[in-house]
Amino acid sequence: MTEKAHIGVTGLAVMGRNLARNFARHGHRVAVHNRRRERTDDLIEQFGGEGSFVPAYSLSELVDALERPRRLVVMVKAGRPTDDVLDELAPLLEEGDILVDAGNANFTDTRRREAALAERGLHFVGSGVSGGEEGALHGPSIMPGGSEAAYRELAPLLGDIAANVDGTPCVTHVGSDGAGHFVKMVHNGIEYSDMQLIAEAYDLLRHGLGRTPAAIAETFLDWNAGRLDSYLIEITAEVLGHTDSRTGKPFVDVVLDQAEQKGTGRWTVQSALELGTPVSGIAEAVFARSLSGHAELREAAQGLPGPGGSGVSSGEAERFTADVEQALYASKIVAYAQGFNQIQAGSAEYGWNIDLGAVAAIWRGGCIIRAEFLDRIRAAYAANPTLPTLLTDSGFQQALGEAQESWRRVVSTATSLGIPVPGFSTALAYYDALRAARLPAALVQGQRDFFGAHTYRRTDTDGVFHTEWAADRTEHEA
Ligand code: NDP
Repeated sequence: MTEKAHIGVTGLAVMGRNLARNFARHGHRVAVHNRRRERTDDLIEQFGGEGSFVPAYSLSELVDALERPRRLVVMVKAGRPTDDVLDELAPLLEEGDILVDAGNANFTDTRRREAALAERGLHFVGSGVSGGEEGALHGPSIMPGGSEAAYRELAPLLGDIAANVDGTPCVTHVGSDGAGHFVKMVHNGIEYSDMQLIAEAYDLLRHGLGRTPAAIAETFLDWNAGRLDSYLIEITAEVLGHTDSRTGKPFVDVVLDQAEQKGTGRWTVQSALELGTPVSGIAEAVFARSLSGHAELREAAQGLPGPGGSGVSSGEAERFTADVEQALYASKIVAYAQGFNQIQAGSAEYGWNIDLGAVAAIWRGGCIIRAEFLDRIRAAYAANPTLPTLLTDSGFQQALGEAQESWRRVVSTATSLGIPVPGFSTALAYYDALRAARLPAALVQGQRDFFGAHTYRRTDTDGVFHTEWAADRTEHEA
């Protein structure tokens, strides 16, 4: 009898193929399958020498190739294809077997699938995997949900293939059922926000200061040597420093300025709206991409009056650049604070008991938002696991204190120059709204009571009240 495989992978496009290779490179025997057999044959032909692979040409062959309890990773197109594959696989599996969906599923789908498969005695683990195709091959950040029992079976294999920071693999059991995909969704939302903030910093240096992309690339490289050190800043410098071979122009100038999206940012905002958790930084980033894509609308608005062009003098260049770095850092703290609050809210709503510090720890390596910064977040939650917001962590509070004058100057300069900075300004508005002793929400309550008798509470006594606005304006308890 041939030796059984430790794990199986079905769906061998870039992500599945690289995950399978990663398992094999770590000494695991991997059964591999794809709907169209060419991808399976390609994998064996090109990379068969990297480790021990068992090609399978049907799902039943794949299932038969696995040791028990079976561990099987599904890495197919998210959405309907995942349901189709699960429907086909479930009858072939036996009680206690473990299915891992490592695609970008919506966490609500994962919750539904987990419940349905649990009824058949199968473990279903929705797992976020971040890091793109390179990460999948060399070490992604892995965010598994599902049962504790399933995680115990998977942990040694996932620990082998995950990214590693300071000897700690970037994988943890996030929580039950859809917790892993929820956290991956928020990761992607934060990624949108981080990218938007970086893009705004670029825009300010480009159009506020009139710097060339190559010069701005140098600035990003400098920043990358400091507290902003991150994968996203690093690749920003690469992209800005790149020259288009066809035209000799800066690459960034020949790319159509319409940013696309696959949907996880949108899901993050939709979920935040349902949870009632403000993630304005992520929302602005998603809307900024949508706005960029509205070519006709933008064309129609070209003649609208307003300032344009550079406005920061060369004498102020150094200070302005330093201000932009401060504004970027402060806005980034807000964006992450909002994202972590969303995870906290999701955890409470769905009973996941998510350890926020552990989430920060597994994002330190492998994933797109990987950065030294995540270690500061990990430390903040280690010092105080019930921190209401990252903004009040002493280290971040100090950084915000040091940044805020620069941050305000940058938002005000951008406004007067007509440079849109939705990410920077919404982050500052959130910061100021949280700090405010009184918000104009009191007036909104008054308006609501006026037109809809929606009632209000008072600052000086308990109870719910209504004023007879249309009559004699007496107040009574509702
Ligand atoms: P794709 O999302 O492009 O999906 C292609 C794979 O899905 C192929 O193996 C294809 O098989 C299979 N497939 C599609 N429909 C079906 C079906 N109805 N039944 C069976 N198999 C089907 O592949 P990626 O590798 O890019 O991504 C895989 C998953 O990982 C997705 O959920 C994606 O969102 C997620 N992800 C992707 C990242 C990336 O950087 N690309 C990063 C992180 C997550 P066939 O070859 O036969 O067509």
